[in-house]
Amino acid sequence: MRRIAIINQKGGVGKTTTAANLGSALARLGRRVVLVDLDAQANLSLHLGTDLASGEPSTYDLLLGRKPFADCLRETTTAGLRLLPAHIDLSGAEIELASAFGREIILREALDNWESAAKEADGEAPADYVILDCPPSLGLLSINGLAAAHEVIVTLQTEFFALQGISKLVEIVQLMRRRINPALNVAGILPTLYDSRLRLAREVLAEIRRYFPGQVFSHPIRTNVKLAEAPSHGVSIFEYAPNSPGARDYLILAREIMAAENQDPDLAQRELPVPAVEQLEATLAAMARPAKPRKPKPAAHAPITEEEVEEPELPTVELTPSPAPEPQVEAEAPPQWSPTSPEQSTGHQELESPDGSGLDSDVHPNLTATCDEPETTLETHAVAAPASHEEPKAPMDPQAEVHAHPGPADPEPNYNFASTSGSEREHMPTRSRLGPLADKGLSDPTLG
Ligand code: ADP
Ligand code: MG
Repeated sequence: MRRIAIINQKGGVGKTTTAANLGSALARLGRRVVLVDLDAQANLSLHLGTDLASGEPSTYDLLLGRKPFADCLRETTTAGLRLLPAHIDLSGAEIELASAFGREIILREALDNWESAAKEADGEAPADYVILDCPPSLGLLSINGLAAAHEVIVTLQTEFFALQGISKLVEIVQLMRRRINPALNVAGILPTLYDSRLRLAREVLAEIRRYFPGQVFSHPIRTNVKLAEAPSHGVSIFEYAPNSPGARDYLILAREIMAAENQDPDLAQRELPVPAVEQLEATLAAMARPAKPRKPKPAAHAPITEEEVEEPELPTVELTPSPAPEPQVEAEAPPQWSPTSPEQSTGHQELESPDGSGLDSDVHPNLTATCDEPETTLETHAVAAPASHEEPKAPMDPQAEVHAHPGPADPEPNYNFASTSGSEREHMPTRSRLGPLADKGLSDPTLG
C-alpha cells in the first residue's frame, strides 16, 4: 500500500486539486484509493462532494483517537475512491493535541492498524494508495501526514515565488527522515498552474528542474479553468470535463506514479487490468494533438493565437499491464474519459476559455507581450521508474539516497522548525534576473 503525502506549506499551489484528481485517475485505472483530508478547510472533502455535518466521523475524530480509520471512511461517486473527510473541527486539533504523547505519529499508527488488520483478515492491504492532502502549514497536521507517508509529492506553482520557502520544506522533510520516518521518500516535485505561453512560467519551470535535478515530474500540470471549476460541482475533473487538458495532465501524472509501483511489495503483486491501461493509452493518444509548425515571431503586443501554443511532449513512461484483467475491474462502468465520448469526438478542447471562446488561462492580455520567445525549456527529466517491472527504479539522487535504519522513533522528537538557514536562504526563481539559485542559498536542496 503506497502512502503519498502532498505537501507545500503555501496555499493555492494545487495540493488539493492534485489529491482529488490524482486519486480519481488512479481509481479509474483500477486501483483502490483512499484520500485523507488533513486540512481543516475541508477543501478536498468539498471538492469530492462531501460536506460533513458536525459530529460525523472525520480526521478530527481519528486524530483524537475517538474512531478507528475504517469507521471514518466514506465512498465517493468514483468507484474505487474512498475519502476520509475533514471538518472545521480539525482546526482545534493542533491545540488539543499539543501535549499528547506521540502526537506526531497518531495518523501513522491508525493507518498501520487499519492495514495490518485487513491483511490479517483478508490477506491483502485494504487499499492500493492512500493519498494525504496536507494543509498549507508545517504544523502538527502536516507532520502527521509526513510521518504516515512513504512518499512525498511537493507541488510548486510555476510563478515568481515558487521556490521561496522551499528551504524550510526541505529542512522539514530531512528532519522527518532523521527523527520520525527514516523511510520517507520523494515521489517527485510537481510543477502546477503552468502556462507555457508565459516566459516567466517557462523560466520558473526550468529553474525548478535545475534546482531539483531528476526529481521533477516530466509533465507539469497546466493552468486549466476546468480544474478550478470542478470542485464547485463536487466532482473530479474526470466527471466534470473528461477531455480537458487538466484531465489529461492528471492521467499522465497517474501513469508516471504507477510506473513506480514495482517498488511497493503489495502493489508489485497486483497487476494492472489490461482494459484500463489500454483505455488510458488510447485516451491520451486521442487527446494529444500533433505539433504544429511554428509561425514567425509575432510583433510585440500581438495577441497569442491558439496555433502558437504548443502541446508539451508526453513523457515516455510505460505501464506493464497484466495479461488477464481482474474481474472486479471489468465490472466497473467504463471511465467517462472514454475516447468514444461525445465531447472528445468533437475534437480536443485544449484552449477553451471559461466562456468557451478563447485561450484557457487567466492571463491578462497585457502579459502576452512576454510570450515573444519560443518555448525552449520543456526537455523532460523523467522521475518515474523504468518501464519494466523487473528493473528497479533508479533513485532520484543516488548521492542523497537514504539508507533507513528503522529503529524506534524518538519518543519525544523535538522538531524545532527554527531555520538554521535564515531568510537569506529563501529564493527567487529566474536565473536571468537573480542568478543561479545555488548561489543564493541552500547547501543541499536534495529532497530525494
Ligand atoms: P492548495 O490545496 O495548495 O491550497 P488548491 O488545489 O486548492 O491549492 O488550488 C488553489 C486554487 O487554484 C483552487 O481554486 C483550485 O481550483 C485552483 N487550481 C489548482 N490547480 C489549478 C490548475 N491547474 N488550473 C486552474 N486552477 C487550478
Ligand atoms: Mg488544499
